Amino acid sequence: MPEKMESEYRAIGPFIRRYDRDQRPYRLPDWSDPAHFYRWQVKARSHLKRRLGPWPPRTSLKPRLISRSKHPGYVHELVDYIGAPGDRIPAHLLLPDAQEARPAVIAVHGHGYGADDVVGIREDGSRRQEPETYHRDFGLALCRLGFVVIAPEMAGFGRRREMAAITDSRSASSCKDLFIWSLMMGSSPLAVRLWDVMRTVDYLATRPEVSPERIGIMGISGGGMVTLFSAALDQRLSAICISGYLNTFRSSVLSIEHCICNYAHGLLADAEMADYAATIAPRWLCVESGIQDPIFPIDATRKTAEILATLYQKLGRDDRFSTEFFDDVHRISGRVAYPFLTQALGLKSGLAPSSHPRSG
Ligand SMILES: [Zn+2]
Repeated sequence: MPEKMESEYRAIGPFIRRYDRDQRPYRLPDWSDPAHFYRWQVKARSHLKRRLGPWPPRTSLKPRLISRSKHPGYVHELVDYIGAPGDRIPAHLLLPDAQEARPAVIAVHGHGYGADDVVGIREDGSRRQEPETYHRDFGLALCRLGFVVIAPEMAGFGRRREMAAITDSRSASSCKDLFIWSLMMGSSPLAVRLWDVMRTVDYLATRPEVSPERIGIMGISGGGMVTLFSAALDQRLSAICISGYLNTFRSSVLSIEHCICNYAHGLLADAEMADYAATIAPRWLCVESGIQDPIFPIDATRKTAEILATLYQKLGRDDRFSTEFFDDVHRISGRVAYPFLTQALGLKSGLAPSSHPRSG
């Protein structure tokens, strides 16, 4: 059979050809007048909101305190609050010892056993003194720097799983159940998790310990995806750190096997990752990735970061964009991200000596 015919038989051929034509309607435009750029941004953001909707109604949060414990330098609360009606989001809330309201960071976990893994709690529930997994306890590290930190459990992980995953293992997810149900009902795991983050911002605004104008977000891997798209949609997030995720869809989730929760209807028909990240500008944005990350190849990460660096420069805000590409695999670093968030959110000083203020 001629080779030409074989390529015409390819299942994904039409999509690749469409991708290669680069006609994505919400791509970052060439612009010389910033007003043009900001008009595009408004359109891209509102289209993304429509694309991922419909969204649940915003009801009363009805927050509950589940447990509270004191630790050196901070108080650890387990709380929950309403996400979609009838649906509660459990979250770790770490409150540094302080009198005044402080900036807060939402710490979004990726795959694994859920939110416990970002606040120094092992799978068996015991507390550790040093980071052990790719999350590097970054929620706890940020709390030790003086941030209020909230780590919501994303739908499909930890406490928010279906029975099949719960009886399988602590780190088995319910991403597939969430994907097929949400797809059939016109939604996606991404949209569900974005709503969880938006409700988490709502919740933080009710806490007297938090300065509501100074809320940031940091997430890795699947949590990096949630971080990117939360920031694209919710302008209350003023400082953003995307770890182990920013890339191109084509070089990462469309070329290397990833969990099914990485996909959402039509995302790539509209724009590539750099375009979505461009909707964050000129808010503070930090990108970190390991140069040996096997599932988000560094070359594509660098190219996307270059597009963003050029954009921030054009906007005269290159002080608000930063990167760290470190010699390691898929994990949190924090070497640049933690001081970046400290500056971006105006955190005055750390409050407690830390056993591991930064990971890496
Ligand atoms: Zn997943």
